[in-house]
Amino acid sequence: MLVVFDCIISRRKFLKQIGSTAVGLSLVTNVVAAEQSKSQESSRGSSQLSKNQIAYAKGELPNYLNNTIVDGSQKVTVTESAEVPEYLSEEDYDAIISFKEFDTIESRARDKFIEFGVDPKNPKATLVDGKPMHVDVARKHVKAGKVDLSAGHPVAVGGESFSTQSSGPKAINGEIHLHVVPASDSEHEPSASYKDATFDAWAIFGSEFGIEAKRSIHFGHWDASGVGTNTDDMLDDIAGDTDKFRDGDNHIVTGWVDKMDNNGIAGRYHSVNAIDPVYGVPWPHEQLVQHELSHNFEAPDRGTAGYEHKKCVMNYEYAARGIGYWCDVDHDIIENNIK
Ligand SMILES: [Zn+2]
Ligand SMILES: [Zn+2]
Repeated sequence: MLVVFDCIISRRKFLKQIGSTAVGLSLVTNVVAAEQSKSQESSRGSSQLSKNQIAYAKGELPNYLNNTIVDGSQKVTVTESAEVPEYLSEEDYDAIISFKEFDTIESRARDKFIEFGVDPKNPKATLVDGKPMHVDVARKHVKAGKVDLSAGHPVAVGGESFSTQSSGPKAINGEIHLHVVPASDSEHEPSASYKDATFDAWAIFGSEFGIEAKRSIHFGHWDASGVGTNTDDMLDDIAGDTDKFRDGDNHIVTGWVDKMDNNGIAGRYHSVNAIDPVYGVPWPHEQLVQHELSHNFEAPDRGTAGYEHKKCVMNYEYAARGIGYWCDVDHDIIENNIK
């Protein structure tokens, strides 16, 4: 089924060469997609993975955003209604687009992949210690206590070596800005859609703590090439590459990479999330972001196994199981620090 992909790409090139219309292309695509979905039928509802899903998890398919304006080759910032943020000077961007425009671009890119049985917003396959596993099976293993959760996240929260401020991020005039910065190099660019998970998590901070949760995405700004998969190195790297966005104490940065050793890491003003960690099982992305951003506001890690803490996103097992709220103690810590 991987061949199907190569096939479409070469046919598209061919059609381009002979100057065929977009209609011609979409017909070809539909025929192949129909065959594809027939072969997917048998595995629907089960925990079986298709060849394309496995290839996707292994990073063998092209990135779904390739050849779009947000493929990282240009500096593109996404804001609510394409307004130019005051912290950006003209050389800091090639284009500013709205969230609505971004959604259109992304959903088109996503639809192309869905035809082949892979949804970049909901990839079914994950690599657990290098082997493909259905995410539902991975989650079941977490629930059954069959997974070593310690690999999910570094035990000590990484610091930022150059930070000299003793205070953390805080709302100013009731606002905090979250800058989402995906890695733009081909080794680290995220292979799956993370936007909704990130902003759904961020919206919880807005509603729970009564702050105005501002948001933006910046493509083409973070080059993590050469960093490898070390989680601490990743945090240092993003902090160095994204300083221009931090226009005061009410600006925080969260990055996305495809793979690093752990699910996530946070420092004082920065955090990084992985689509699929090299070790252990992936945490649901919304809870991953919620957990890492909570560290920015001083909520600590609360143990690996569920019995070590109350039901709370700061505990690894509960985060991995998708518990999207805080215990009272951690809720209070964040509330005291966020404003
Ligand atoms: Zn943590
Ligand atoms: Zn807690």
